[in-house]
Amino acid sequence: MCLSKIELDISRPSFLTWFQETGITHVDEGVATVCVPNAFVKEWLQNKFHKTILHALRAVSADIKDIQYVISRPEGGGVKSLALMHGELARRRRSPASVSVGDDDSGSMKDLTVDPLTNLNPRYTFDTFVVGSFNELAHAAAQSVIKNPGTSYNPLFIYGDVGLGKTHLIQAIGNDLLDKNSSYKVRYIPAEKYMGEIVEALKNQSMQQLKHKYRDIDLLILDDIQFIARTEKMQEEFFHTFNALYERNKQIIISSDRPPHAISTLEQRLRSRFEGGMIADVGLPDFETRLLILKTKTETKRVTVPEEVLRHLAEKITKNIRDLEGALNRIIVASKLSSAPMSVEGARKIISSHAAAPKKFVSAKKIIKAVSEFYDITEGELLRRSRKQDVVKPRQIAMYLMREEMKSSFPSIGEKFGGRDHTTAIHSCEKVGKELLINQELHEEIRLIREKIFQET
Ligand code: ADP
Ligand code: MG
Repeated sequence: MCLSKIELDISRPSFLTWFQETGITHVDEGVATVCVPNAFVKEWLQNKFHKTILHALRAVSADIKDIQYVISRPEGGGVKSLALMHGELARRRRSPASVSVGDDDSGSMKDLTVDPLTNLNPRYTFDTFVVGSFNELAHAAAQSVIKNPGTSYNPLFIYGDVGLGKTHLIQAIGNDLLDKNSSYKVRYIPAEKYMGEIVEALKNQSMQQLKHKYRDIDLLILDDIQFIARTEKMQEEFFHTFNALYERNKQIIISSDRPPHAISTLEQRLRSRFEGGMIADVGLPDFETRLLILKTKTETKRVTVPEEVLRHLAEKITKNIRDLEGALNRIIVASKLSSAPMSVEGARKIISSHAAAPKKFVSAKKIIKAVSEFYDITEGELLRRSRKQDVVKPRQIAMYLMREEMKSSFPSIGEKFGGRDHTTAIHSCEKVGKELLINQELHEEIRLIREKIFQET
């Protein structure tokens, strides 16, 4: 039940792995009982996520002091409360695997099934997409694309800040076209993942197959292209795919956090291609639209939240629809936990406890502590000049995090780790950075470590 809050802080794959089929059954004298499907999950939650879960629970109900984990499937209330977070779950979904949880037939279950062929999440449709002046242009452009794919607005380039509905909109186009014609070949791909595929193909010498995969489609949706702009090789690869599709009048849809001219590393030839199509921005929704979005969400989640609480949320959270949704989820969860109707006062507390959680100050010490704890090695082992295989990887990760989180210089990183040369530090950071592109598991581990770093007091 707490899990929507937790999900905000844990990446999707690990959330799916460890939290599906878990739920809170009841809270008794400050002890929350979490049911888990098996002993394996129980152990993991206890060992790796206990603090995170406790934190999350406390954020919604300060009375909770401890958690006990019990093996059993959630039923009734448990299942219902889990459905709450499926929206979040689905949104976080990045990999094309298809997962279905339980056999509840409520609409929310649909969220979990992402078609591995298209990568589209069926949750993102126009039915649930609120249109206001902030996204009117982008929405209208999307509608034209649906009417005449591959002709007038090609490519369609949608840009705007994070959490304002770009992914929702561009996936809705794919879902809609697919609905109208099931043989239409759609492929949605986040740029980061696309790059991962290229790296992998280069490694396995399967570039030809990959090219094929992307040239044989009717609609390509590339999300968050700003990431691709960081590497020439990737842009080059994308350019060829782009042209191959474009020449055959296949539709291309691109999203970014900023307009093409503001992506400084974007190659000229790609930029002019984009500028030859349709460019539409998504701005910030006004108060009435934010309220309408909240109301739409409560309807899809089939919950009732007092109007004044919704108004309060819409007033306070103005810059990001995802945050708006997150706050709504926390409030729903909190009111279920306390079984009292949510008041504006309660909502205020919940929002401020979340917003007040400060980005803690990062230090080398914290990074080293978190990494060594995570991998069950001592700080000494991490720092000393040992080449034992099981400390090499953690050490590289610690170096990487010092670079990423603290912007430490390479010589100072080398210095910290047993007086190593700065080239060792560079090598480690690069290695981890590259590996991250293709290795989901590593991605996951580093996320969890980051969480530790920021959560430790
Ligand atoms: P972006 O890709 O711009 O970062 P998303 O598309 O992921 O944003 O949207 C964040 C969340 O807000 C999603 O859960 C999405 O469903 C919701 N959302 C965004 N825009 C709208 C909208 N216009 N109507 C309803 N929900 C929206
Ligand atoms: Mg997005």
